[in-house]
Amino acid sequence: MTDLDIRGVFSPSLIDYPGKIVSTIFFNRCNFRCPFCHNPELALDKDRNDPINPNEIIASLVKRKKWLDGVCITGGEPTLHKGLEEFISRIKNEGFS
Ligand code: SF4
Repeated sequence: MTDLDIRGVFSPSLIDYPGKIVSTIFFNRCNFRCPFCHNPELALDKDRNDPINPNEIIASLVKRKKWLDGVCITGGEPTLHKGLEEFISRIKNEGFS
């Protein structure tokens, strides 16, 4: 999963997934340039945070499973990243929505 460029995790979030308490994961980069972009630093690859290892994110989710219902994946544009499907499968396999 080395192609996943994740730059942030916000947790817990009560607003990103209706009815669920989640961790929100922010992917870097976007191939669109919407003038109303809510995360332009991610979309333009100007985020100053270091990439976060996806394995560490999953380990952290599992540790806090008792308090989390699910995961919200956003960016940037997550579908640009190779390995997204495997990453999501691993999250689902841990029992998260
Ligand atoms: S992250 Fe969303 S809002 Fe921002 S440029 Fe990409 S598609 Fe547009």
